[in-house]
This record gives sequence, structure tokens and C-alpha cells, in this order.
Amino acid sequence: MGLFDRFFRKPPAEPTKVDALVPAKGREIGPVAPRRRKVHSIHREVVDVMAQMGRANHPREYGAALRAEKGVITELVLVPGTIGGGSHTFMNTWHLPVDPSLVGTVHSHPSPYPIPSDADRQFFSHFGHTHLIIAYPYNAYSWRAYDLTAEPVKLEVVDQWPS
Ligand SMILES: [Zn+2]
Repeated sequence: MGLFDRFFRKPPAEPTKVDALVPAKGREIGPVAPRRRKVHSIHREVVDVMAQMGRANHPREYGAALRAEKGVITELVLVPGTIGGGSHTFMNTWHLPVDPSLVGTVHSHPSPYPIPSDADRQFFSHFGHTHLIIAYPYNAYSWRAYDLTAEPVKLEVVDQWPS
């Protein structure tokens, strides 16, 4: 075996038992189950806290980080150095602890529109993968969730803490 082969040749594929179990034809391909997001739910109490903080800071914005356990957002984490403004929130990501349980952010909009601004889109792509905006009047229906590209995602509101 030459040097190239030794480094780059793939090991010979071994026939697997799985192959033998799959019928060669006549196999129905069913609908593919949608892949569940890494973060798929939020606890109802976190939504309540998000709403309370929105009301408390209105008409200024607030921002916080979100912690998730086992796919469920369980906690709002206040970030030192976050400045809430009338139209934008500056969250200094340098102040965020290096913590893989922090999955994204929430911030409020004093307007009735939980729609990401251009600045929000920029920010979403720089930290985490699940971002919430809660808009006026800050209730269980006035928030939306987005992924890091600002595409809307659906989060289930749950009453069960992850165990
Ligand atoms: Zn915003």
C-alpha cells in the first residue's frame, strides 16, 4: 500500500446486516417525520416572566438570555451590560458566560409587532439559535420565536419542568 492509499483509502465497506433486512423493492416510503428542533418548548412560567418584564420596562425595551434544559426553555438570564432603549436593546455578548445551556435571547418591542428588525436579524445570527421577541401588550399571545436566520419557529408552551 502506498502512502496515499494508507492515508486516503477508505476502509472496504463491510456488508451490514441492516442491508439484508431492507427489502429491495416494494418498500413504501412514508412521510418523513419532521426533525424536532434542539429547543422545541418553553415553560409557561418563563413566558409569564417575559411578559412581566416587558410590562415593567415599557416603553423601553429589555433583553435577556435564555437557558434551556432538554429542549425546554426554563430560565431567563439577565446579562450584565444590557442597555434597554426605546427602539433597540444592546446586549453585550461578551458579558455572556460561556455556557452551552444558553440557547438564545429574548427582547421586547414596545410596538405591537414582534417582528425582527434588521439589527435583530444581525444579532440573532451572532449568538445562539433560538430568539424570542415579545411585543406590547406583553402577554401569552404577543411573542414569537425565531431561529438564527430570523425564520419563525414554533415553540410549544409546556407546564412540565424537564426532569
Ligand atoms: Zn427587536
